[in-house]
Amino acid sequence: MELQRRHLLAAASAASLAAIAARAAAQAAYPTKPITVIVPFAAGGPTDALARVLCQKMSEILGQQLIVENVGGAGGTIGVNKVAKAANDGYTLLFAHMGTLAVNIALYKSLPYDSQKDFEPIGLGGTNPMVLVAKKDLPAKSFAEFQDYVKANQKKVQYGMAGIGAASHLGGLMLNSMMKVDVLEIPYKGTGPALNDLVSGQFDYMVDQAVNVLGQIRSGNIKALGVSTLKRLPQLPDVPTIDEAGLKGYEVTIWNGFFGPKGMSKDNIAKINDALVKAMADAAVSKRLTELAVDLPTKEESTPDALRGQLKASIDKWVPAVKAAGVKPE
Ligand code: ASP
Repeated sequence: MELQRRHLLAAASAASLAAIAARAAAQAAYPTKPITVIVPFAAGGPTDALARVLCQKMSEILGQQLIVENVGGAGGTIGVNKVAKAANDGYTLLFAHMGTLAVNIALYKSLPYDSQKDFEPIGLGGTNPMVLVAKKDLPAKSFAEFQDYVKANQKKVQYGMAGIGAASHLGGLMLNSMMKVDVLEIPYKGTGPALNDLVSGQFDYMVDQAVNVLGQIRSGNIKALGVSTLKRLPQLPDVPTIDEAGLKGYEVTIWNGFFGPKGMSKDNIAKINDALVKAMADAAVSKRLTELAVDLPTKEESTPDALRGQLKASIDKWVPAVKAAGVKPE
């Protein structure tokens, strides 16, 4: 009897040791299969563009594909929620920006996720300035003329954005509120498709991340009337800041970052963070992103904790600011 019990105990501990070893091996080997990276906006937009540049390099570094899946709609909340509810095994990640994770807390009566509790921050993936762009035949050659035109044509003027809580919504709503205008809002699933419509003149203006609009500005298909930073951009030296052009204090920049579902293991977070940091340090990647006006984080800004701090700081800054702008939550 005693012998049988000892055999059973030995078998049980061998089995649990084997299980622990298997788990450790799986962790050490992570990732052993492709990783899905959800971008909560349409393909061809700024979040998508940045995600694809980073994911391509990170795939090379990790030896596994990081596959971008675009889940657009509702200002990014559909895609973000999908990751909040996904398995936390490290094979579903989110690449999203401060609009969908911080600003939209002020813009929705209720969100299906809690951005501080339902995710594990992994690392910052670049911060983007924005540009006020207008269709090329809008009758305004400067920011001052633009402001006069919009004021004179309220209710008729249309601005584009990528849904409630998108970066382009934040950029546009702060602009409209500071100009004290009431204009028509045209929502898209991302500013990729919105930009196509701006180029073909289907609405009047939007405030979008530079990474998405620089090419079309250079080709003369749309016009840039102001930048959202307090300093001019080297990529658009002739375009004034919106602050210097008349709206004192207007400043909006958009950070982007990788997140995993709550409970993703520290080891797996560290592996993705390491690949991200290496990807951003790659000479070709950083040259490409700098050309697109993306500001890359320093070493200290690249840690998961720094991203957690960034998220909290953005909630503390933007939730009261958006409420003060008088926008009613949906
Ligand atoms: N990030 C969105 C996109 O990629 C645009 C936005 O937030 O305004 O389309």
